[in-house]
Order: sequence, then structure tokens, then C-alpha cells
Amino acid sequence: MVRIACDVHTHTLFSRHAYSTVQEDVVAASEQGMELLGVTDHYSCMLFNDYTIENFAYFVNLHDWPHEWHGVRLLHGCEADIVDLDGHIFGYDIVVDHGINGDAIRRSTLKEQVFRDCDYAIASIHGRDWAEGASIASTTQMYVNALQDPKVLILGHLGRAGVPFDVDAVVTAARDLGKMIEINEASLHRRDASELVVACRGIAERCAELGTMISFGSDAHTCWKVGVHDRVSAMLDEIHFPEELCACRSAAAFEGALRAALG
Ligand SMILES: [Zn+2]
Ligand SMILES: [Zn+2]
Repeated sequence: MVRIACDVHTHTLFSRHAYSTVQEDVVAASEQGMELLGVTDHYSCMLFNDYTIENFAYFVNLHDWPHEWHGVRLLHGCEADIVDLDGHIFGYDIVVDHGINGDAIRRSTLKEQVFRDCDYAIASIHGRDWAEGASIASTTQMYVNALQDPKVLILGHLGRAGVPFDVDAVVTAARDLGKMIEINEASLHRRDASELVVACRGIAERCAELGTMISFGSDAHTCWKVGVHDRVSAMLDEIHFPEELCACRSAAAFEGALRAALG
């Protein structure tokens, strides 16, 4: 049985459609026996209409968090939207020239300001109108480009993004960069899950065969789901997924892989 000791995709109140505090998530992670919790609130156009630094202020003070809380190693990141077929991350083109206190700062982008304090980012697709009718070659390149971002460690819920792509090419690119493909618990609980289960299992199988690390994410939007991994565990057991490719088998394994990939 593949051990899962880290939940590295979770949300708090700061995602606006999620319902728990950081502390509630930490306590839940501890109760579920997790060694490590990664809090990854949405960094996305779905939060606000105005893409100002003030609206994303939550991300600019993440270094205030403790390294460990209730005996759980705590990492802070974000789930960042991929916004176009070039694989750009949300806010890459939004200029920021002042800090949250209004003082002038060196001109940068919203993405740079948000990513600065993140231990890592998960790149995911939510809104996908822009990918409608795109070729497999271009959606594949989009994911490969997103993986090149120095803060992107994980591609999130590929199986349910609704954007077809060349699984082998993306899984291979992730492997070569030492990055991870997420296996997402929430995807396997959808009402329409049967097709998603097939898609997610297929991706996990190719990760096993090609030697690519996977990460585990509950994608909890409420603390009672933090650390819950029943369906992912069952699926990984079913396909005899090799434990050494499961980056979330221990806190040390995940942090080691994070450092190796992002420096
Ligand atoms: Zn997501
Ligand atoms: Zn999420």
C-alpha cells in the first residue's frame, strides 16, 4: 500500500469559496496523521473582478506562518491558474507598482508579488474557454511551458481540467524537470466520476511507467476533507503504483523533491 503522509493541495477561507481557516486545516491534517500540509489557495481571476495587489494581499505575508503547527510541517503555496495556450500564469501581465500599504515599489507583476512568498505553486486550469478547439500539440506545449516556471512544482488535477493533451509528453516533461503530476482526491468524488476515474488512473499509470513523481492533493475546500485519501489510495493500490514515485509518502520525501526541483 502506497503511504500518503502529505496533503499538498488544500484551500482555506482565502479562496472565497472555501470554508475553513489555516488552523482548522492544520488540526485536521494532524488528526488524519499527515506529516505535512501544503495550503494552496486559489490565485485566480475567479476571486475578484479587480486584479489589484490589495485583493491578493493574503499571499504577500505568507512568511509569517510557522514552519510547524500542531506537529504538522506547514508549507504555503498557491493554486495558480494557467490562463492561455502559452502556459502563462494568471497575473503575468498585470503591473504592480505599489505595495499593500500604498508605497511605491520597483515595478513588477502581480504574479511575481504573489509567487515571491510561495514555497511552491500548483498550476491548474479552471476557466478554459480559451482552450476550446485547440490542437493537442498546443495544449501539450501549454502544460510543458507552465512546468518551466521556476515556482511551479505540480500540475493540478489534469484528469478533470477538460482540456485534452498528450499525456506521455507532459508526464515526460514533468519527470525531466523533477516536477510532479497531481493525483487529486476530489476528482474521484465527483458525481460524474466514472470517466474521471479512468482518466486519472490512466495518467497515474503513465507516471508509474515513465518514472514521474506524483503528488497527493485532497483539494479540500473544507477542513473535514483535509488529508482524506481513500480513493486515491485505492486507485494507486489497484495499479500497484511504485511508492518511490509518490512524493507525498513522507514529509522528507516531499521536501527533498521540492528542493531538488525548485532549489
Ligand atoms: Zn483546482
Ligand atoms: Zn484546488
